[in-house]
Amino acid sequence: MADIEKSPSVDDPAQLAAAVCAGNRRALARAITLIESTRGDHRDQAERLLEHLLPHTGGAARIGVSGVPGVGKSTFIEAFGLNWIAAGHKVAVLAVDPSSQRSGGSILGDKTRMEQLSRAPEAFIRPSPTAGTLGGVARRTREVLLACEAAGFDVVLIETVGVGQSETAVADLVDMFLLLLLPGGGDELQGIKRGIMELADLVVVNKADGDMAAAARRSAAEYANAIRLLHPTTSDWIPPVLTCSSLENAGIDEIREMTQKFRRQVEASGALEQRRSAQARRWMWGEVDEQLLAAFQRHPAVRAKLDSLERQVSEAEITPSAAAQALLEAFRGA
Ligand code: GDP
Repeated sequence: MADIEKSPSVDDPAQLAAAVCAGNRRALARAITLIESTRGDHRDQAERLLEHLLPHTGGAARIGVSGVPGVGKSTFIEAFGLNWIAAGHKVAVLAVDPSSQRSGGSILGDKTRMEQLSRAPEAFIRPSPTAGTLGGVARRTREVLLACEAAGFDVVLIETVGVGQSETAVADLVDMFLLLLLPGGGDELQGIKRGIMELADLVVVNKADGDMAAAARRSAAEYANAIRLLHPTTSDWIPPVLTCSSLENAGIDEIREMTQKFRRQVEASGALEQRRSAQARRWMWGEVDEQLLAAFQRHPAVRAKLDSLERQVSEAEITPSAAAQALLEAFRGA
């Protein structure tokens, strides 16, 4: 926070935006700190900053990476990120992990997990903010993604842990959703929620090496069958199932090529534009929901009645809908 206040450029969003767009990494870090700040005046500055950045966004391949803890997400992202860099790209890595309470950042806070990637000048790794609701974290991550795009990162990888609702939130931020799975046949298949399978645009069975290589190939065939059942044969894109070894850096080229093929296809069909515009509309409504609720909860007339109405609802003295009605009338000043 102190860093923000000392920085003269933060007070001038146009100047900060220009520095971000020029590829200045310190300016990008500062812009992100501003975006993630919960202070009201910082939020206003962040909004102005984003207005300046917006014309320079939209250019990246936005890829979500998910999978259960231990599947090898960080090992994979390191190998995948370095592979993109070797092909001439600049890679930003973000995370959505509202479940983490670890201090100093979350799943990606511990940079030693992606040691080589974090040292690469063409990479930018940002731990996820730990505070806030999933919706809030996801919205801020979207803004951070835009800042990274404006700064010239043309590949943005967003990691999320394979639990709870975070996949759905990440799927709403990205163009392509990549699901990492472990080698392991039927039982493993049972453990994966159907909804998550349905989100995937590309499935990768990791750890296809050593003793697990044959099992990984078998699993990939089983997953491919399961996925075909989920998608009508007329679909433009049936999510392919690939195998890789992140540890041995095998199969990573094929995954990058597949993501590029997907990109070309959805760009040509118009599906990418549709996906992004639907995301933008949901984002708008998310902001409206959040800000309306905050204004409602702050409203003095609502606050004056809230405790007693909540108690009456708890004790079944009044119906929840009558209480809601009374609060809404107080809010509208009726
Ligand atoms: P995350 O929790 O999903 O981020 O998983 P990590 O990347 O931390 O990996 C979990 C464990 O699996 C670590 O011990 C890795 O070394 C190991 N691992 C990751 N990828 C592979 C792989 O391709 N092959 C093998 N054999 N082990 C792997």
